Amino acid sequence: MLQQTARALRARALSRRTLSSYSPPSSRFCDINDLSWQLHSVPHLIAPFDASMTMPVLEAAENFVNAHGHLDPLFDVHESKFEPARISDKSSPSASPIVLHPETKSLLDEYVSAGFTQMQDPDGMDLPYTLTCAVNAVTSSAFTSGVLGHWTLTQCAANLLAEHGSPELVSKYHAKLIDGSWTGTMALSETQAGSSLLEIRTKATPTGNPGEYKIKGAKMWTSGADHGMYDNVIHMLLAKTEAGISLFLVPKNLVNDDGSLGARNDYEINGVNHKMGCRGLANCYWSLGDETGGATGYLIGEEGKGLNCMFFMMNEMRIHVGIGAAVCGKRGLQESLTYAVDRIQGRRKQPNSPPKPIPIIEHNDVKRMLLQQKAYSEGAMMLCLFAASLSESSEKSNKLLLEVLIPLVKSWPSEWCLEANKWAIQVLGGYGFTRDFPLEQIYRDNRLNMIHEGTAGIQSLDLLGRKTMMADGAAFKLFLSRVGEACERHSSDPATSALSAQLASATEKLADTTLHLVTKMAAGEVDEALASSHDFLNAVGHVAVGWMWIEQAGAAAADPAYEESHFLQGKVLAAKYFYENDLSKVPEVCSRLRNSVSVVNSTTASHLLH
Ligand SMILES: Cc1cc2nc3c(=O)[nH]c(=O)nc-3n(C[C@H](O)[C@H](O)[C@H](O)COP(=O)(O)OP(=O)(O)OC[C@H]3O[C@@H](n4cnc5c(N)ncnc54)[C@H](O)[C@@H]3O)c2cc1C
Repeated sequence: MLQQTARALRARALSRRTLSSYSPPSSRFCDINDLSWQLHSVPHLIAPFDASMTMPVLEAAENFVNAHGHLDPLFDVHESKFEPARISDKSSPSASPIVLHPETKSLLDEYVSAGFTQMQDPDGMDLPYTLTCAVNAVTSSAFTSGVLGHWTLTQCAANLLAEHGSPELVSKYHAKLIDGSWTGTMALSETQAGSSLLEIRTKATPTGNPGEYKIKGAKMWTSGADHGMYDNVIHMLLAKTEAGISLFLVPKNLVNDDGSLGARNDYEINGVNHKMGCRGLANCYWSLGDETGGATGYLIGEEGKGLNCMFFMMNEMRIHVGIGAAVCGKRGLQESLTYAVDRIQGRRKQPNSPPKPIPIIEHNDVKRMLLQQKAYSEGAMMLCLFAASLSESSEKSNKLLLEVLIPLVKSWPSEWCLEANKWAIQVLGGYGFTRDFPLEQIYRDNRLNMIHEGTAGIQSLDLLGRKTMMADGAAFKLFLSRVGEACERHSSDPATSALSAQLASATEKLADTTLHLVTKMAAGEVDEALASSHDFLNAVGHVAVGWMWIEQAGAAAADPAYEESHFLQGKVLAAKYFYENDLSKVPEVCSRLRNSVSVVNSTTASHLLH
């Protein structure tokens, strides 16, 4: 469906949507007009690409969520179960102890047959990566339970394989991953090894056959590790060899040279984790090598360089986590907007007629809650799309900038779009706290995003402890100078000049603070500096999102349709709100980080325990 639509419309070369043609969202789940606007109408962020494809593919994605989005609460309520006794045919390649909601398979099949798994296929649609991320934003907007995470993980596993796998492995496994025949996972974590993957105990020993190893150990938290829906599951798995942490491809069913499926690999699913949210994607713990002494795995990349290779997948997944969080924020905004328009509370006196009932959207504090959600979710989405665009660039400077942005893209949307969801629930009052509305599910689902793919704490250490000093500080300086250029560009337009001055001042203070903290670390006061890493992460994140907002506000204000368009005016208002409410806090945080040592430093475990 998607492929046909895309091909037909590529030929027609639809002219790009202009700002004045913006119309309100046609789906309760997503806002494809805003996504299209962010992709094509905000200069300096997204590398330009053929815009004729954008609306057709986003519309196809919107049709998909409109048709199937009602299923998501089922995946939330009917959590996956672990029932090994129910496997009727152990010889079947798809035999699995995991029982999912029966609609899961048909939904995932629909996704495949609509062509969404093949958007990046060079022989197929070959869409720009940034556009595929926007499509993922639309499809995931209705499936916050994470059920489509099966295909996100698969796509990222396929990309990792293509980047680092040997030609033999690529030819055997890649096509089946992108045509939707098999699914993929990332299997890093173990019970004792989460944030610190150096602690993994799973071991791999060479069998003597080139590239082949026997793997023994146990994995924890693997999303989609098994499901019984498709014939094979391909794990991207970390294990230790004598050379150190290495990356392996571990199939559920071995694959013969002619591509047919061979014997079942030696691993066992031992159970599922019962989660507060994201229940559409079974999360498993499992052990390898219990029967024969080792599951078969194939080395990807060099021995001992597994983490370096795995970062390719982790970084892509981190962009997807950011998108997932931004989408939850925007979905919360849409759900709470719909409610706020209809919900009547209070009456306003009017001369010579009965008091007029007031929809809550007219109360200032409710407007504030809605504006805050808009500022966070659309700022976050712009940041994610920008990162996606950088990641498809081959320019060295863009790659360097992306290194700084990755921890921000992962962590800022997860923290602040969860905050947005808090306000979405608040708009609904007591109803927001019930299961009659989707917001409580969205909030629970979004809560995962601060945890997986590296917790917020780990992202903050990565940013302050590593990225600020990357390439002798060149990466972070590049970030600061790109923000500075944006300030310069928007300094003379009356609509953005005040924002520009505020952002320039916050950026200057951030630069001083960064230098101060980096100098401290260089002088050996690493723990003292890192005690402030979370505040630092948010200060940098606020500046980055401030940058995203000034670009959006500048683009909106410069549009000839600005005076008549509430959409465009709304962009400027959301930017102003973000600066007034959030960016304004950055200078205060910076001076605290510069001028005082955090009390955290003098607090010991014993102080907290007594
Ligand atoms: C639903 C779900 C799905 C997941 N899916 C996958 C998956 O598909 N594949 C996979 O491999 N993993 C997966 N994970 C695992 C996930 O990546 C880890 O949970 C995460 O990295 C944190 O590890 P942990 O749970 O062991 O927490 P810990 O590492 O024990 O951390 C606990 C707390 O301590 C903090 N902390 C730890 N070390 C430090 C430090 N050095 N300095 C400061 N603070 C620190 C952390 O920030 C955190 O707040 C999933 C997890 C969940 C919950």
